[in-house]
Amino acid sequence: MSILKIVKYGEPILRAETKEVYKISAKIQKLIKDMINTMYAGNGVGLAAPQVGENYKIFVIDISQSNEANPIVFINPKIVKKSGAVNSYEGCLSFPDVYTDVRRYSDIIVKAKDKNGKDFVIEAKNGELLARAIQHEMDHLSGILFIDHATDISDTNNKLNKKGLPSIDKSYLIQEGNLEKAVN
Ligand code: ZN
Repeated sequence: MSILKIVKYGEPILRAETKEVYKISAKIQKLIKDMINTMYAGNGVGLAAPQVGENYKIFVIDISQSNEANPIVFINPKIVKKSGAVNSYEGCLSFPDVYTDVRRYSDIIVKAKDKNGKDFVIEAKNGELLARAIQHEMDHLSGILFIDHATDISDTNNKLNKKGLPSIDKSYLIQEGNLEKAVN
């Protein structure tokens, strides 16, 4: 297993569309293991394939707060239901030390394949970390980044620029009307 290099904001692959995984080959299996390792090495709760330079529809999440690893692997995920809204602070391994307030759906149901290619459905509610993490990682598979959901653009730009990262590209901003009004 290896720890992969994480692509930083500004590199084009983070804005690229990803490909469906048709076969969970040895190469894909290794990529998944390496992604899990890389997520833990970076102390992240999630990591998507484009963040390690691979444009596949794969991400991994581990929201367990304990020392016991409990990674969940999502391959070709689809959100089948979404509702509500929640605001919360988010960061991203591709944006070192940048945290900003973003708006997300509070309740989602997602369908995906696991690392063995088996279908599963997962539900996450009430704006819990799992719900937010899944949406954050799903976005990466479509070239969408958490700053596109920022609730305060100038504050987010200040934080980005302080870390030497480019400002928000307004053409990517998600229209607030696409989400229900936040409940908190
Ligand atoms: Zn991210």
